[in-house]
Amino acid sequence: MPAVKMDGSALAKKTRAELAVETQRMKEEGIEPHLAVILVGDDPASTVYVRNKEKACIQTGVRSTVIRLGNECDQATLEETVSRLNAAPDVHGILVQLPLPKHLNTARVLSLIDPKKDVDGFHAVNCGLLLSGREGFVPCTPRGVMEILAEYGIDPRGKHAVVVGRSNIVGKPMALLLLGADATVTICHSRTVDLPSVTRSADILIAAVGRRGFITKDMVKPGAVVIDVGINRKEEGGVCGDVEPDVADVAGYMTPVPGGVGPMTIAMLLKNTLDAARRYGA
Ligand code: NAP
Repeated sequence: MPAVKMDGSALAKKTRAELAVETQRMKEEGIEPHLAVILVGDDPASTVYVRNKEKACIQTGVRSTVIRLGNECDQATLEETVSRLNAAPDVHGILVQLPLPKHLNTARVLSLIDPKKDVDGFHAVNCGLLLSGREGFVPCTPRGVMEILAEYGIDPRGKHAVVVGRSNIVGKPMALLLLGADATVTICHSRTVDLPSVTRSADILIAAVGRRGFITKDMVKPGAVVIDVGINRKEEGGVCGDVEPDVADVAGYMTPVPGGVGPMTIAMLLKNTLDAARRYGA
């Protein structure tokens, strides 16, 4: 029997509808959740991602402001923009769309965002709160994966979860969330020896590598839950994940790409913005 398709698009739609109700309620209480997005340059993928975030805000009733800075924008201008948004009482969430053009210092910019408005959860303060199991902002993609698991009744407790990828925005926070949910967690990366033998022992396998066709059928334990975080542009057009489609023949559950983790990432951005407005909103 093929794997159960974990429909992230449907879950994101349901989540957005719930968030729209919550947004309306907050507005009636005098708080209008407001997300500010800074886009530097004209990278086509970033432009599409920002447009999708704007659309999701509109659908949910969350106010959004996109600040577009040209390719030539210097570090000082970008930092001034972040400082201005930090000081604006009506802005609850600040997101700097990554990647930034190469001449800009990403780590420095991210460190300047007020942790209380850091709805991407990339600030070191929020990373530390996640590490120590305390309330902060959790990066949107791993938070979305946890919601998908919950929606399909998959409890990580006691399961072996293998995360392939150790980036600060996906792999590491993903591993921490699974650990917090009582999974036994293994993190793999490009120096892992005999990766297939590790992935084959996974009850929950998370692929966050960024390489098309990276996870093949022979790397997956029959019945495993396979979450494909990868987004890879296909030469023939469109996008695909890191997991070969025929893995669905052996897996018990699997997320599609597109329509899996991606839509939930945006839904979690809205959720984090509402959390920010509720916790710290004027
Ligand atoms: P990244 O920063 O490039 O990290 C990729 C990770 O994969 C690294 O930790 C790297 O290991 C590991 N890796 C590379 N080659 C490997 C190999 N041969 N064996 C084992 N591990 C290997 O990427 P990212 O930002 O985490 O994103 C990963 C993917 O998720 C990308 O396709 C990205 O587009 C996608 N993504 C999707 C969403 C969404 O909403 N669905 C959100 C964010 C990202 P080393 O650390 O050793 O180099």
